[in-house]
Amino acid sequence: MSSNFPYRGRFAPSPTGPLHFGSLIAALASYLDARANAGIWLVRMEDIDTTRNVTGAADQILATLEAFGFEWSGEVLFQTRRQDAYAAALERLKASGLAYGCACSRKEIADSSQHLAIDGGQVYPGTCRSGMPLGRSARAWRLRVNADDIFFDDRIQGVIRQQLERDVGDFVLQRADRLFAYQLAVTVDDEFQRISHIVRGADLLASTPRQIWLQQCLDYPTPRYAHLPVAANAAGEKLSKQTRAPALDIGRSSELLADGLYFLGQSPPSDLRKAPQAEVWAWAFEHWSLAHVLRQPTIRLA
Ligand code: GLU
Repeated sequence: MSSNFPYRGRFAPSPTGPLHFGSLIAALASYLDARANAGIWLVRMEDIDTTRNVTGAADQILATLEAFGFEWSGEVLFQTRRQDAYAAALERLKASGLAYGCACSRKEIADSSQHLAIDGGQVYPGTCRSGMPLGRSARAWRLRVNADDIFFDDRIQGVIRQQLERDVGDFVLQRADRLFAYQLAVTVDDEFQRISHIVRGADLLASTPRQIWLQQCLDYPTPRYAHLPVAANAAGEKLSKQTRAPALDIGRSSELLADGLYFLGQSPPSDLRKAPQAEVWAWAFEHWSLAHVLRQPTIRLA
């Protein structure tokens, strides 16, 4: 593991819709943690899955961040402009024998998989691991995993341990539709942007061991991780486009920022919600403490 300083953090939204309170939490905590460590904070637009992008959402996200008073360094990195970098990383993994072509269809995997993966999918049964059946060609490319434990010390959730072979299986790097998978793109970009600290929602906690394994396979250093509680609605569902989370209202930025601070375990005075935005930020910069964030994967909003 390389030195985790100077601090470089990031916020990496996917342009699948407008920002909502759940995304504000990740933006706020990653920004405040970077500021508290005299670090740099970058914004990366994770538009790699072009089947899910919504026209205009990237511009809208950036305009909302600006209206809420976030200040990022440098240019926003768009994943759709980074295809060559992902292709080069995949070539390296193929050359070292770690990535292999897989001919299996979704149905074939479902029919022969014996186990459920940690995030609800199927553990790949390994059919093409030592070569594809005769006459078949690669639909996707997968990364070989093993039975070693991957563990890391999350700054909020504590020590997390996962055995990729049992909990995930050989996972996809390039999908059958030729799109590069999130796991590959995010790992290559965190290295490219020399991210030292990742602060994001605990919905990604189960993905982190895959990203650490990819870092090891590609000889990248491992950043430090902090996984925040995820905001859930009254029904217990994660706030998202699918659960119809309302878009952030830029006319209520002070209120929403103060609510975000409260959600993150900070204790803003109640009149901060009515204060000018600059005062909310001044309070947040002065008082931010990651140690006060609750060690919980989700928090239900009233
Ligand atoms: N783009 C991902 C999302 O919006 C976040 C990825 C990450 O922070 O690593 O959920």
